[in-house]
Amino acid sequence: MKIATFSTHHYDEQFLNEYNTGHEITFLKVPLNEQTASLSKGFDAVCVFVNDVLNKKVLTVLSQNGIKLIVLRCAGYNNVDIKSAGALGISVVRVPAYSPEAVAEHAMALILTLNRKTHKAYNRIREGNFSLERLMGFNLHNRKVAVIGTGSIGKTFCRILNGFGCKIAAFDIDPDETLRTAGVMYGTLEETLADADVVSLHCPLLESTHHLINAGTLKYFKPGAMLINTSRGGLIHTADVIEGLKTGQLGSLGLDVYEQEADLFFRDFSEDIIQDDLIARLISFPNVLITSHQGFFTKEAMEQIAIISFENIDAFVANEELVNKIG
Ligand code: NAD
Repeated sequence: MKIATFSTHHYDEQFLNEYNTGHEITFLKVPLNEQTASLSKGFDAVCVFVNDVLNKKVLTVLSQNGIKLIVLRCAGYNNVDIKSAGALGISVVRVPAYSPEAVAEHAMALILTLNRKTHKAYNRIREGNFSLERLMGFNLHNRKVAVIGTGSIGKTFCRILNGFGCKIAAFDIDPDETLRTAGVMYGTLEETLADADVVSLHCPLLESTHHLINAGTLKYFKPGAMLINTSRGGLIHTADVIEGLKTGQLGSLGLDVYEQEADLFFRDFSEDIIQDDLIARLISFPNVLITSHQGFFTKEAMEQIAIISFENIDAFVANEELVNKIG
């Protein structure tokens, strides 16, 4: 197949080349959106990532250009208008679970960094400041952690929390019975958030979960709780969360994703003026830690993403059942 790969970085190229099962791949640095959709001409498939835009307009151009397959090299698919793709006869495949450990471990990294302030200690010591002032954290042992969404990543995250001796509360529209048997306490969203010292989001971005964390739900939080989002930026109403940080209702915030990340993440703006005032405000807080959607970014995950993407493509070519098809 001739495949146009959008939003490519050198690391995508490295892993996709290594596991290519014989397809002709063109690596494009630009994201897929309404301005770039025409570049799909002459290809059979497009391979895309989390911030590529696949709305009805883009899909129509892809269809006119003869694209039959969209290969998502990620799990989340909130950026694809699945209904329109189906109507245009374009199959959409994804990598549903490449390495839940990669994201779950990153969520724990954010918690430990925010809590024990190792990022601040690192900078202090380099400047000859060996003081412990304002570095005090809390034991995770015996603390209540609320896990919102206990699918592949949430479940793995629960296993990690178990190792730390946390009390685990969870909210999911489809509770996992093995987790319940293992002692995870399922409840309503309100019950799950109540008294939690840490809240970690692991549900997908859907209409029903858009701005799940807002001024209304922040009221259920224990004052001073920590919020972690490694799922999708749209789960959080950013302005409300900033207000929560200002009042102290939210004690700290760890983000690997951000609602407007498509205009920022994966690129270097170190010499530019950031125009997004919400992220600029977030960066200014001493108790906010932001990473640039790197939860997935481990060697193991990149290998699995490449391997499963080519399995999806090969199954399509062989007219076999597409086990990772969406819609
Ligand atoms: P999954 O499909 O295995 O699990 C999602 C869980 O959320 C399911 O148990 C589902 O029942 C639950 N859920 C659905 N709607 C819900 C709702 N309204 N309220 C509560 N729970 C709900 O997905 P996963 O592999 O665990 O991934 C979770 C999310 O993590 C993905 O959707 C993606 O957005 C994100 N992700 C982020 C990165 C990263 O690099 N930061 C990498 C991979 C995935």
